[in-house]
Amino acid sequence: MAEAVTQEGITEVGTMKRQHYSMIINGERVESSTGEVFETYNPAKGEVLATVAKASKEEAEKAVQAARNAFDHGKWRKYPIGKRARVLNKIAAIMRERFKELVEIEVLNSGKSVGAAQVQINQSIEDFEFYAGAIVGHRGEVNNMPYGFFNYTHKEPVGVCAQIIPWNYPMMMAAWKIAPAIAAGCSVVVKPASLTPITAIILNEICHEAGVPEGVVNTIPGSGEVVGDYLVQHKDVNKVAFTGSTPTGRDIMEKASGTLKRLTLELGGKSPNIVFEDADLEAAVPGSLFGIFFNTGQSCEARSRMFVHESIYDEFMEQFVAKTKKLKLGDPFDKGTHVGSIISRSQLEKIDAYVQSAVEDGATILTGGKEMQIEGFENGYWYEPTIIVDVTPDMKAVREEIFGPVVVVEKFSDEKDVIKRANDTEYGLGSAVWTTNQARATRVAHQIEAGIVMVNSPFSAFPGTPFGGYKQSGFGRELSVETLDLYMEDKSVLAYYGSKPLNPFGV
Ligand code: NAP
Ligand code: MG
Repeated sequence: MAEAVTQEGITEVGTMKRQHYSMIINGERVESSTGEVFETYNPAKGEVLATVAKASKEEAEKAVQAARNAFDHGKWRKYPIGKRARVLNKIAAIMRERFKELVEIEVLNSGKSVGAAQVQINQSIEDFEFYAGAIVGHRGEVNNMPYGFFNYTHKEPVGVCAQIIPWNYPMMMAAWKIAPAIAAGCSVVVKPASLTPITAIILNEICHEAGVPEGVVNTIPGSGEVVGDYLVQHKDVNKVAFTGSTPTGRDIMEKASGTLKRLTLELGGKSPNIVFEDADLEAAVPGSLFGIFFNTGQSCEARSRMFVHESIYDEFMEQFVAKTKKLKLGDPFDKGTHVGSIISRSQLEKIDAYVQSAVEDGATILTGGKEMQIEGFENGYWYEPTIIVDVTPDMKAVREEIFGPVVVVEKFSDEKDVIKRANDTEYGLGSAVWTTNQARATRVAHQIEAGIVMVNSPFSAFPGTPFGGYKQSGFGRELSVETLDLYMEDKSVLAYYGSKPLNPFGV
């Protein structure tokens, strides 16, 4: 990496200023007490990008105590709300100034296309702006009481929050969690994914630069099974917010029960994409394409199970396959690139195993289905956008989350039947409906068992829309006003104001 750093330390496209990233505890850059570091990669090239300090339980403990101290004795939660909001807006402003650098680092550390990274960094900025506004208007209720009594709910921050982040949207998932938590007055310990720790560390530094007091935001890269687990069971942690796989979510829920922590779990998905016979194909084809292949299919709400009405199946599939073949994979920094690399070799092997299992089960691959070699990126992790047909509902590739650029397609003939089949999954995160019939759109939207229904929309969420799952996709909502309540307790204050003293026992 050294040769990529200019003398002035200015970032150029595809280069980085630093070769080592420290964790952040109590406002300071900290190394591991064990001296341990780990390497983080550029998955597009399969090359080491930087080293990162690896937190041990000792640093996890220090981070929890820093957050606890900031919450119990610090000033952040006592600031007037307008002042907290100003700091959140300042975080957003600094992120905007450093937009290009943040995008570059996100691309380098995740292999995603520059277009995808731009959208996600921009949304991360807007998350802070959204919560700066939302917290100002967030208030409790005055409740109707019998005469002589007055009751209101006082909203108080829940305390110290452990926030465990996945690798598919490294900065955006950190922003989804940090912004509402600190807006509410909480302190946080962020555990980024080991594959993509860098932008969360930089975001923590930006929080300090903007005026967040020390200890309010701490970031400890390290093993999920060691430090993640430690945070989840720690008695001084009041809440865990987690995004990642359903098995890890289950494990966290079980372990967090020991101290009855508040929990938000954003887990996996196998989201249906239903194309009715009356759909506008000019919208449905590119929307369905984006629905599965954006972020290289590594998205919890990827529309990975497609149902197409039999009467338009041939026409739709002809266009869908043709457009899939047109998708450009390659240099993530090239503006013309649609689909980036896979995050790691092991994720690529997992994806390929699912595709091969579908073939063994009797399915047909219409396009894709194997690893790709890209000139200049030969050691990176690339997989062809893949469409699988002739599938049955019991196949592993149809039931389980693949988390890659792979879609399975089925035909249907009847609205009632397709709703039943769409709901035949343990998951319930996203779903998409393509139809020009408004009554049908509403009817179907209300029967789908999922936290999110996209009607004629390729996009699933913006700051302000609740994001979260039904069934085994987890619970709790992020990105919305409701999220603030998940970082707060509602205290009921009941007061008696009558002039006659009350003596219920009458003694
Ligand atoms: P994962 O195990 O759920 O990891 C997500 C986060 O949890 C990471 O920060 C991870 O740390 C941490 N973690 C892991 N084990 C933990 C534990 N026992 N206690 C506390 N925290 C823990 O996901 P993964 O292993 O990276 O990916 C496996 C599969 O999960 C993927 O193939 C995909 O299907 C799914 N996934 C879903 C999402 C989503 O957005 N729903 C995101 C990512 C992955 P480390 O990075 O150090 O392990
Ligand atoms: Mg894991």
